[in-house]
Amino acid sequence: MKYKEFELIPSSFKCDKNCPYCTAKITKWPVVDDKLDLLEDRLNYLKKEGITFRYFIFCGNGEPSLHSYETIKKVVDATRKVNIFDEKRFQSSGNIFYEDKKLNLIKDDFIVEVTRVDIDSKKDMEILGYKRDYINSDNFKKAKVRLNFVLMKNKSFEEDLEEIKNYIKKYPNIQTISLKTLNLNTKDDNIDNPYSKWIIDHALTKKDTDKILEFMNNNAEFKVKDEKFFDRYEWVYEGVPITFYIKKLDYGYSNIVYYGGELVDYHLNKIKLKKGEE
Ligand code: SF4
Repeated sequence: MKYKEFELIPSSFKCDKNCPYCTAKITKWPVVDDKLDLLEDRLNYLKKEGITFRYFIFCGNGEPSLHSYETIKKVVDATRKVNIFDEKRFQSSGNIFYEDKKLNLIKDDFIVEVTRVDIDSKKDMEILGYKRDYINSDNFKKAKVRLNFVLMKNKSFEEDLEEIKNYIKKYPNIQTISLKTLNLNTKDDNIDNPYSKWIIDHALTKKDTDKILEFMNNNAEFKVKDEKFFDRYEWVYEGVPITFYIKKLDYGYSNIVYYGGELVDYHLNKIKLKKGEE
C-alpha cells in the first residue's frame, strides 16, 4: 500500500516567523517529547508492513531548521537508512537559508518547502512577520524549492498567475508551485481564534475550490487530475508543475503523522494501517 505523506511533526513551537494564519497556533496540539530516537524503528515497522509513501515531510509545530544539527541529522539519517519515500521535503520559514551546515546536510535529497503570500519580499515580510529576505539570499539558489503560493482575497486570479510566472522566471530552482487555500481549523471547524478569523478575512479557503479550478483550467496547460488518492489537480507552466489540493477528502486522508514517537492521524488517534493495493 502506498500512502501519500509521512509527516514528521515535532512539537517545539519555536518559530522565527509570525504568520497570521499559523496552523500550529490554531490546532494547539499538546507539547510532547518528540522521541525522535524511535523514528528509525517506526519506519522499519512500516517497511515490514509493506507501506511506502509518495512524500516524507519534515514539518513542525514550529520551524524545523531551528532544531539542532544533531536532531536534524538523526531524522535525515533515519530517512536515508529506511528510504520508503519517493520524495522528501523539508518545510522552512526561510531560516534554513541562513543555516549553512544544516542546508548542506539536506539539500541533495530534500526539497525545501517555503510558503509565501507575495513575491514582493517587503510585503511578504510584513504580512508573515519575519525579518530576512531569504528568497534573495545566495543560499536560496542552492536548494531545490517547492513554493506554497497562498491565494489571497486582495488579488485577482489573473494577478496570481502573473506572479506565479514571475516566480518561475526569476527563480529557476523552484521545482513545483502549490496553490494553497488555508485551513480554518483542521482539528474541528470552530472559528474560535484570531488566526482562523484572519483567514476568513484575507485568504481563499476550500470553499473557493471550484472558482480556482475553473480559472486554472481556462488559463494554464492542464496535466492531471487525481481526486481519489492525491485529492489534487496539476497544471504545467514552462515545465514547472503547479498543483492544487482540492481538499474534498477528509483532511489528512492517506497521510500518517509521527507525533511524540507514535504513528497517528490528525486527531492524534493511533493509526490503523490500510493494507493491500491502493
Ligand atoms: S512558519 Fe509555520 S510555525 Fe512559523 S508562524 Fe508560520 S505557520 Fe506558524
